[in-house]
Amino acid sequence: MSQGFERDERIQFSRDDCELDTLAVRAGQHRTAEGEHGDAIFTTSSFVFSSAREAAARFSGEEEGNIYSRFTNPTVRAFEKRIAAMEGGERAVATSSGMSAILSLGLALMRTGDHVVCSRSVFGSTVSLFDRYFSRAGISTTFVDPTDLSAWEAAIRPETKMLFLETPSNPLAELTDIAAVAEIAHAKGALLVVDNCFLTPALQRPLMLGADIVMHSATKYLDGQGRCVGGVLVGRDAEMEEVFGFIRTGGSCMSPFNAWVFLKGLETLPIRMRAQSESALILAKWLQQQTGIKKVYYSGLEDHPQHALACRQQKGFGGVLAFEVDGDRDAAWRFIDATEVVSITGNLGDVKTTITHPDTTTHGRMTAEEKAKAGIRPNLIRLSVGLESVSDLQADLQRGLSAL
Ligand SMILES: *Cc1c(COP(=O)(O)O)cnc(C)c1O
Repeated sequence: MSQGFERDERIQFSRDDCELDTLAVRAGQHRTAEGEHGDAIFTTSSFVFSSAREAAARFSGEEEGNIYSRFTNPTVRAFEKRIAAMEGGERAVATSSGMSAILSLGLALMRTGDHVVCSRSVFGSTVSLFDRYFSRAGISTTFVDPTDLSAWEAAIRPETKMLFLETPSNPLAELTDIAAVAEIAHAKGALLVVDNCFLTPALQRPLMLGADIVMHSATKYLDGQGRCVGGVLVGRDAEMEEVFGFIRTGGSCMSPFNAWVFLKGLETLPIRMRAQSESALILAKWLQQQTGIKKVYYSGLEDHPQHALACRQQKGFGGVLAFEVDGDRDAAWRFIDATEVVSITGNLGDVKTTITHPDTTTHGRMTAEEKAKAGIRPNLIRLSVGLESVSDLQADLQRGLSAL
């Protein structure tokens, strides 16, 4: 291999010595004999062998090497190595979407009779997956208040295999103390899985706080520029080998092209997260002072009930905030419709700021009772702050305020 390859390998394997910004641009790069500085995309479904003997050795696992892109592709592997280094995990396994990461994890590590304790404030499809689909395989789930440690503890049963949470929650920024829940899980022999979509390793590293597995919808901040759907799981070799085995068989793998896009996304992740968090904090504080705004939900605000926890377990507060306007659903819709710069969409984590009405879109399928419990009110608006200038965003939100 070329010298450059070894140099990059060295950085990847001395991850304890490197800062996250360095890992984001360096870790896991696969450089071919051509000496390319950028990352090559291996758009090939299969790989050739130099002999029948070599083919047999690869298939039997006697010899390492590429076989078929459902489970061995150098571009996908480079992405996996980079995100694993950034999260501080032994190994990562990439998947076709964030949801397929959770599906693959569940099917790889659980069986009929197992039980899950899950935060009730997780992504809507995550609730459906546990509640409607895993239940068909005889895997049951108890949903708990993510901020209540005694509720987590009380929900655990002898057959509990996994605790699952997302912090900060979407859209109301409820936090869960990762280290405390990890301790509760481990005392009962269960695994803690954290969906780290909202803060990413740039701002929060759950594995360092005691979690066993981190999952991502790479679709959000890891790409950050709205181009691809993908997911990834990071953890210890033992569990990731099980997941890898499932994906090899189940086929919920990431495409090489998407892996390349995410690899590029990771390079700018720390700098984007810092900039987007900074803007979000400015806007959250500004919104708090405006007449027409009833309440702002953001863990960076000093009056957030868990601000101290946010300062302890996060390196920043993230780019997503939510606020309630004075009035009803129509007022929220008028606010949204009066904006001109931000995009009206259900997505988040993009360099383009997005605005969402959770009650009628992302959380629209919840029952009235579920919404009331989760605090999804008709006057609630979610903002995922991008990289536009803060003053332009402020002017845009001012248009919204004027329409109330
Ligand atoms: C979007 C999202 C998911 C699902 O990911 P997909 O890539 O859309 O499948 C899971 N968790 C969170 C927090 C999300 O925002």
